[in-house]
Amino acid sequence: MPSPSLLLRDRGLRATSNRRQILDLLGSRASHLSAAEVYDALRRTGERVDPATVYRTLEVLTEVGLAHVVDGPGPKRYGDGSEPHHHAVCRQCGAVKDLPLRGLADAARHIEELTGLRPDASGALLFHGLCGACSL
Ligand SMILES: [Zn+2]
Ligand SMILES: [Zn+2]
Repeated sequence: MPSPSLLLRDRGLRATSNRRQILDLLGSRASHLSAAEVYDALRRTGERVDPATVYRTLEVLTEVGLAHVVDGPGPKRYGDGSEPHHHAVCRQCGAVKDLPLRGLADAARHIEELTGLRPDASGALLFHGLCGACSL
């Protein structure tokens, strides 16, 4: 895994401290984080940052493919862009789980045959349902 600085410079972005920290954070979590969660996590590390910068940085990272976004319910959540995957999202609490591409290749092919729609680089099948906690 290349360093955050290298990834940023590869995409023509200056490797600012905020960008490096946010990229690090997204890469180190198994889960997806909202802008507010990213802000809180950065604040806890002592990083000087404001919410607008966090939001803008997440947008920029998504634009260049270093992060990807999963729409709610609830706030948008962001994950890192290193490993394409699909998502399962809880309709009630908004929890996001990754789904590996491998197990869903047949489904993706079938959807493309039926609709012409193809997952993009980030892997874009989105399943909605109720997570374990919400379906109790
Ligand atoms: Zn994801
Ligand atoms: Zn849930």
